[in-house]
Amino acid sequence: MAEIEMKHIVKQYGDGFPAVNDVSLDIADGEFMILVGPSGCGKSTLLRMIVGLEDITSGDMVIGGKRVNDQAPRERNLSMVFQNYALYPHLTVFENIAFPLRLSKMDDAEVRRRVNEAADVLELHEHLERKPANLSGGQRQRVAMGRAIVRQAEAFLFDEPLSNLDAKLRGQMRTEIARLQRRLGITTVYVTHDQTEAMTLGDRVCVLRKGKIQQVASPRELYEQPVNLFVAGFIGSPPMNFLPARLEGRSLTTPFGAIELDERRAKAVAGRDLLLVGIRPEYFEDASLVDDVKRPVGSIFRARVDVTEWLGDQQYAYIPYEAPEEITTQLRELSRELDSEELRTQAIVSIDASSRIREGREAEFWLDSRKVHVFDPQSGENLT
Ligand code: ATP
Repeated sequence: MAEIEMKHIVKQYGDGFPAVNDVSLDIADGEFMILVGPSGCGKSTLLRMIVGLEDITSGDMVIGGKRVNDQAPRERNLSMVFQNYALYPHLTVFENIAFPLRLSKMDDAEVRRRVNEAADVLELHEHLERKPANLSGGQRQRVAMGRAIVRQAEAFLFDEPLSNLDAKLRGQMRTEIARLQRRLGITTVYVTHDQTEAMTLGDRVCVLRKGKIQQVASPRELYEQPVNLFVAGFIGSPPMNFLPARLEGRSLTTPFGAIELDERRAKAVAGRDLLLVGIRPEYFEDASLVDDVKRPVGSIFRARVDVTEWLGDQQYAYIPYEAPEEITTQLRELSRELDSEELRTQAIVSIDASSRIREGREAEFWLDSRKVHVFDPQSGENLT
């Protein structure tokens, strides 16, 4: 097992914008690290540089204390699991798992021992004589991981391994990968653009944008303390609302009501004028369902509900608004990058399913103002 250290890694294809732009990241021995970001942010390129499939333009890649920039992939002893698992259709499960050991001319008894050991961990014993075509997607995934286990690789690298699977199988495989990684305790780097995978699998998540690291943190910290608008908008579903707000004293005036800031937040934004306030949909509640104890610690928003969606345990309410021009310009690029055009035209509120709010009617929402984030609309920085 090994620690992976990246120091000022740059990848320049041709003379355009660097695909990976000065990335420094330490992945601890045994850690499960997720690389996540929108299409083109450089996550696959970074993974391919770790494994040695892509040259590094500048910077140092250090694995297990050794600089590996000039090592070929097979010298690095890492194991990459691809989207399509790369299994050999004509070989049995046993021989697919044994494949890397046969290549290294290991003696037969040792091959049997190691394959059997991997089959134990992966619960593949009863399938060892079958061909990949007769396995489910989940079983194929386990065979691919078996191949990595027998080699006693120092780290697992995954490049969107679940993106070809349907939603149900993806959920099952996600749990399976998490369980295996914990059991084996092997350093793992996992690329995805799926935020559910990012949030559920990783010990830590590295969010990339245009080749640069935005934030590296635990899933919880990313969710609760995003450093900027990009991370705040990328993590969370439905996404965080960004409402334009004017600061007057300690109060933020938004299109739907005023938010009184606590002392810490007020101090952090003092002297500003136009701001963006970040509110996750679940920070709201139907005001008529909030008791008198809780009511005073939050803010009351009034708005006309455009559309509601009922999801069984909760419901979403969509509330259109018009942002001032200077804000719209700032949010346009962000909404394009996050593939969420509605981001600057409507707010999404998530409330209890028992709420009696109606489409086309005014409603009152209670907002937990102790949770709101306030962003600089120019730099995108989270000021709170
Ligand atoms: P996706 O989720 O779409 O796979 P990604 O975040 O993994 O995206 P990369 O595949 O690493 O992104 O690509 C990062 C940038 O580098 C993109 O702008 C891409 O067009 C560019 N790029 C990737 N591979 C090459 C290549 N072989 N030659 C030139 N440019 C490349």
